[in-house]
Amino acid sequence: MLANADPTPSPIAPAASSSATGSGTGDAVRFSFEVFPPRTDKGEAQFRGTVKRLTALRPSFISVTYGAGGSTRAVTRDIVASLVREAPVPAAAHLTCIGAPRQEVDAIAREYHAMGIRRLVALRGDPPEGPGETYLPHPEGYAYASDLVAGLRRIADFDISVGAYPEVHPQAESAAADLDALKRKMDAGAARAITQFFFDPAVFLRFRDRTRAAGIDRPLVPGLLPISNFDKAREFAGKCGASVPTALANRFAKVTGDAAAVRALALDVACELIDTLLRHGESVFHIYTLNQGQLVEDLCARFGHLPMPQTAN
Ligand SMILES: Cc1cc2nc3c(=O)[nH]c(=O)nc-3n(C[C@H](O)[C@H](O)[C@H](O)COP(=O)(O)OP(=O)(O)OC[C@H]3O[C@@H](n4cnc5c(N)ncnc54)[C@H](O)[C@@H]3O)c2cc1C
Repeated sequence: MLANADPTPSPIAPAASSSATGSGTGDAVRFSFEVFPPRTDKGEAQFRGTVKRLTALRPSFISVTYGAGGSTRAVTRDIVASLVREAPVPAAAHLTCIGAPRQEVDAIAREYHAMGIRRLVALRGDPPEGPGETYLPHPEGYAYASDLVAGLRRIADFDISVGAYPEVHPQAESAAADLDALKRKMDAGAARAITQFFFDPAVFLRFRDRTRAAGIDRPLVPGLLPISNFDKAREFAGKCGASVPTALANRFAKVTGDAAAVRALALDVACELIDTLLRHGESVFHIYTLNQGQLVEDLCARFGHLPMPQTAN
């Protein structure tokens, strides 16, 4: 996902009835959620409410992104710290290589460990201008995520997730080189890879085959982006190198301007994707929530995950 994703979503209409699927139920499907730090005080109050809602769904973990260029260091740490203190689900902190010497990154990791955080999502990171800009490693920094994973493993026995790119990372020399890079991250000690979002299940399934053939046997978790705002989703996809199927664009084109219909379609599309992946043996999904509690709540409900009453308010 993008570090500086800001969906500014269109207002969400009340849940509409839908023909959606959602065939897997309860414990058959596990979710983890990704949130990004709010940028304003107003956003902060909203964010807390969103996190409460997400927590009530009892995900495997909630991960908090690290802003582009490492720009949200303090706020990411504070949010993760409050999750550790208050939330009854594990928290994961994203950590990137970019713009900092190794010593500084190591110090953050040690601080996290001292706070009781055992889960990290280790990434190279993108320049603040976005993934299209040239990346230059810090002269004394970790150059790539595989170097960061190795460094983190030297510090403590963290549970480390890394990123993977079913449609190839935009700056990779080739698909084969990108797969090698993923293998290096796993060999360095990552517990799982979470994929960049994709909209066509075949894209994920082909990539899964390639990773298995390359000897990567740790979990490859599909990263899913529920589409609450199609134009924004298409913009993110362009930056991340994710393709948008024409059929999908056509479906959203038919409901343009009808917020309730967009919402129902967003849920249907996400459910269809999950259903297909369930049929192909996947059961664990990472949701790029874009801090949208209601949409994620509705999606999870389709798979039998209802908010736990004690944490829902
Ligand atoms: C699940 C997920 C969460 C994310 N969260 C954040 C976040 O919180 N903050 C943020 O800033 N960004 C985040 N991103 C975006 C990520 O930082 C970018 O996609 C970034 O461009 C690549 O990160 P990486 O860890 O996959 O990099 P790497 O695995 O280091 O790969 C980056 C590029 O370098 C190539 N490469 C790797 N090793 C070598 C080598 N030794 N020699 C030459 N080339 C090499 C790879 O093929 C690839 O093209 C996230 C991405 C994902 C998938």
